[in-house]
Amino acid sequence: MSQKLTVVMYHFVRELPYTRYPEIKGLLTSQFKEQLTYLKKYYTFVTVADCLSTLYNETNLSSNACLLTFDDAYIDHFVTVFPILEENRIQGCFFPPAKAILSHEVLDVNKIHFILASVHKDLDQLISEIYACLKKYRSQYQLKSNSHYYSKLAVKNRFDSAEIIFIKRLLQMELEENVRKLITDELFQKYVTKDEESFSRELYMDLDQIKCMSRNGMYIGSHGFGHHWLNKLPPAKQESEIDESLKFLGLVDAPTENWVMCYPYGAYNDSLIEILKKKGCSFAFTTKVDIANFSKENAYTLERLDTNDLPKLSYSEPNPWTKEIINNG
Ligand SMILES: [Zn+2]
Repeated sequence: MSQKLTVVMYHFVRELPYTRYPEIKGLLTSQFKEQLTYLKKYYTFVTVADCLSTLYNETNLSSNACLLTFDDAYIDHFVTVFPILEENRIQGCFFPPAKAILSHEVLDVNKIHFILASVHKDLDQLISEIYACLKKYRSQYQLKSNSHYYSKLAVKNRFDSAEIIFIKRLLQMELEENVRKLITDELFQKYVTKDEESFSRELYMDLDQIKCMSRNGMYIGSHGFGHHWLNKLPPAKQESEIDESLKFLGLVDAPTENWVMCYPYGAYNDSLIEILKKKGCSFAFTTKVDIANFSKENAYTLERLDTNDLPKLSYSEPNPWTKEIINNG
């Protein structure tokens, strides 16, 4: 049997104007509170335990069931989100990038966010900097021409301009991992900081903070170990990624049986799903935008809505995603 589950995905939740990087993309604390009020009006919050019971005991989820997920273990999740969820008796699901937390590194995806926030609006300057890097590494890594990459990648989407999409896609996935990392690190050091360790400690929760949330009823799940595109790794590497991430879950007193996965970048493939099943994972979240059909068949490819897909004002009328739930309820 299939049931509707609205899963909402969050990243940064902070008072952006009062931070060192007001231009990063994130949800304001006030918007988070307003959105919670909106969600409370139209949805019933469920827990991971409710979802497991639906899978294994065939209990029913409410027709308007909603689950909140928070990726990448930003310090915001401990300082801002956790107290608000506590106060509202809502369980959040948190997915920490294990290696970045353990070794005090900064995820490439975050390096790119903060590079973009540091250059402000001067994207032309940044793009010429990137072209200079491509030139430097072109023969060693058999890179294609600048215009090849630009025309292939610079396609604006619902959140970002063509230039920003070009930079993000080039440095997040198009180039081979080694050269991608070289260029990202060079730009991060130039525009943001040379002290990656301090930056990491400021950006993410630490083990004690994650443990504290786990002890207080928040759910901590796997986000892999090295925050890779797991679909691009061979099965043996996928397996070690999962093993390492389970060790991390043990360290923070999170469940390692009937556990929950959240794919970094939403990326997965068949061999990864087989490994998850073998290792006792019960269900897994993608970044495909939709209301999830929560069922055994769909358990490893669950869709989510982005926070930006839902209203950020408490008194908003139900938007189309919400109407879909109310009308079928
Ligand atoms: Zn992530």
